Amino acid sequence: MDHFLYRDGALFAEDVPISEIAAAVGTPFYVYSTATLLRHFKLFDDALEGTDHLVCYAMKAASNQAILKTLAQAGAGMDVVSGGEYLRAKAAGVPGERIVFSGVGKTADEIRTALTGGIRQFNVESEPEMQVINAVALELGMIAPVTIRVNPDVDAKTHAKIATGKSENKFGIPISRASEVYALAASLPGLEVIGIDVHIGSQLTELEPFELAYNKVAELTERLRSEGHNIRRLDLGGGLGIPYTRSNDAPPLPVEYGAMIKKTLGHLGCEIEIEPGRLIAGNAGLMVSKVIYVKSGEDRDFLILDGAMNDLIRPAMYEAHHDIVAVEEPAAGVEQRPYDIVGPVCESGDTFAKQRNMPPLSSGDLIAFRSAGAYGAVMSSEYNTRPLIPEVLVNGDQFAVIRERPSFDEIINRDTIPEWL
Ligand SMILES: *Cc1c(COP(=O)(O)O)cnc(C)c1O
Repeated sequence: MDHFLYRDGALFAEDVPISEIAAAVGTPFYVYSTATLLRHFKLFDDALEGTDHLVCYAMKAASNQAILKTLAQAGAGMDVVSGGEYLRAKAAGVPGERIVFSGVGKTADEIRTALTGGIRQFNVESEPEMQVINAVALELGMIAPVTIRVNPDVDAKTHAKIATGKSENKFGIPISRASEVYALAASLPGLEVIGIDVHIGSQLTELEPFELAYNKVAELTERLRSEGHNIRRLDLGGGLGIPYTRSNDAPPLPVEYGAMIKKTLGHLGCEIEIEPGRLIAGNAGLMVSKVIYVKSGEDRDFLILDGAMNDLIRPAMYEAHHDIVAVEEPAAGVEQRPYDIVGPVCESGDTFAKQRNMPPLSSGDLIAFRSAGAYGAVMSSEYNTRPLIPEVLVNGDQFAVIRERPSFDEIINRDTIPEWL
């Protein structure tokens, strides 16, 4: 459920008409709903009620500071995957003790930044990385809290580009080598081993792969404890999928996911962390765009939009489906017709949808891409010297621009010309 609904024939974000935002900021733009963000966070938080837990929002999904602040004020921690994300979370007011640092390639500089600024834990992904965290901690006279990310070798049954829990993926250490790697970690004086981390992929639409992985984590917890490690925190990653279409086979709900966590791991008495990203932000955001031209081709009609693959790359990159709706509600019973919906970028890959049934549309009409809140704005680029599009946050009847559209001067002046030219 989200807060983007038609009212009196027009699409609203909470209590604000989308057309009003479009008039104020121009198109294309992203718009997020505060109520939807908070609702999704709370679903996870409530699902783990009764267990010592922290929901760490995976901020790579949508990292605008206004979004981070909204969630942090509701009690969320953050999962960061770079030094930049760490600094952004801090800038949004998230305390270090609520930030976990994931990612396969943390550099010594990034580790130093996080250790000096305060960190809840590093999720370590390899032995070389463990050695560097140890060295940086010792150099700073500190002890780094760590969990080790294990790769449970389970099939997440999701798109290959976002599956991370098979042995062929670059993530974590093989669970079969865990004893050895934990023993090494325990021998390093700059580290304190506090737990286990696992994250098997994104947009999972079944609980089964999670359950397989978490059962392995439960077994591993007992084994490592018997080997003398004080395992007291389990970071279970993110990855619960969202419905991208309004069909009936919706992914499991956070409450079902939470119950499964309690069932598989509850007896261990560990603190539980989860790192949902997509489920919190995905259906809390739209990308709104305008039809520039309706072009009739030989055998099909094209809707050419002012938004493009640089603004929302998921269809080009993951063959992702987004529901696309007219901002002006189509009259009841109006006949739909198929369009290829494309952007103006000079690549055939700049196609959002093929032969998608839409109400008749014409130049100047607004449309909205649903489920665009996660991995949308954060993956945008200035390809074709197209400015990054604005982000807008709605809260009840208020809205605010939370990232401005840069001017062409700002973009162009970022280049510097060598003196020999
Ligand atoms: C991307 C990522 C997440 C979030 O995944 P979602 O599918 O957005 O929930 C969580 N943890 C780690 C380590 C990640 O890389």
